[in-house]
Amino acid sequence: MNLVRIENFFKENSIPAFRLNQIRDAVYKQYATDWEEIKTLPADLRASLAEKEGRLLSISPEEILVSQNHDAIKFCFRLRDGHKIEGVLMNILPEKWALCLSTQVGCAVRCAFCATGKRGLRRNLSPEEITDQFIFAADHLKKLNGCKIHSVVFMGMGEPFLNYNSVAEAIRIITSPELIGLGRRHVSVSTSGHVPGIRAFAKEFPQCNLAFSLHAADDVLRTDLVPLNARYPLSQVAKALQDYIAATHRKVFIEYVMLDGVNSSRSMPDKINDYLRTISAPKYFTINLIPYNRTGGPFRAPAPERMQIFQGLLQELGWEVTIRKSLGDDIAGACGQLAGR
Ligand code: SF4
Repeated sequence: MNLVRIENFFKENSIPAFRLNQIRDAVYKQYATDWEEIKTLPADLRASLAEKEGRLLSISPEEILVSQNHDAIKFCFRLRDGHKIEGVLMNILPEKWALCLSTQVGCAVRCAFCATGKRGLRRNLSPEEITDQFIFAADHLKKLNGCKIHSVVFMGMGEPFLNYNSVAEAIRIITSPELIGLGRRHVSVSTSGHVPGIRAFAKEFPQCNLAFSLHAADDVLRTDLVPLNARYPLSQVAKALQDYIAATHRKVFIEYVMLDGVNSSRSMPDKINDYLRTISAPKYFTINLIPYNRTGGPFRAPAPERMQIFQGLLQELGWEVTIRKSLGDDIAGACGQLAGR
């Protein structure tokens, strides 16, 4: 929903301002997804808004897939221009659901193991196209089981910091108490290492969480896996993360997709250790090891016991390390699998 456009329409037509508040509350607090659900508005106003604005939300669901064990729900949305994006609700703890949001149609970073990257970038999403994913998913969850969205992660399609302005505006809408009102500590943004974005985020959103997708701790391998590394090599990201930690005193989440025979050998934990220690002490990091999810490429995930050995080696070096449970891989809704097809 584009509140600014609706406000202009109201001004042009001398519609009282309190009507705008009714729409704002209905959408951001009650998660209305259709003009007809906003019963506080007179029927003729609902009809003229539908005629002027079209649908209330800028996205419409094309397909909703539920994982076999019901711990992930993937939404495929169609945008007004026909492009498709995906978002995923994940049941991370009993009664706690996190929503993974997309920020771009496709992605220019083209990480070697990611389905989104294979498509290249089509376009950025607007703030409303990002927040409308939240409204739709929140309404779906409310009707499904009465739960509220507990947290939001910007880890879906796209590199969030390559669409910084829209992402920043979406975070403001999601966290403003007058609008959606989710706590800032419940918002995480994941970057593949966009240095100006990390710096801007530290200034503007020091209470939100930052995740950095490392995937390799040497520049040669990392540039193969995450081509953005050629523009912002590891040393530049390290400096930006150092400054981020100094400014926010917050932990950084390190994401590491495990690819068998590529970045999962026994020598890698030492390299990760050396690199992260150039940034800060272990207490400022949590390392999340993510088993590679199939995207049709040449990669495979290491066997679970190999991942545990890798985890143990990092733990011995003093790091807090988790192995991420992949939710939604049977519906192509897990990390790296979103393609918007
Ligand atoms: S992993 Fe993220 S940054 Fe890399 S191509 Fe996929 S969406 Fe883009």
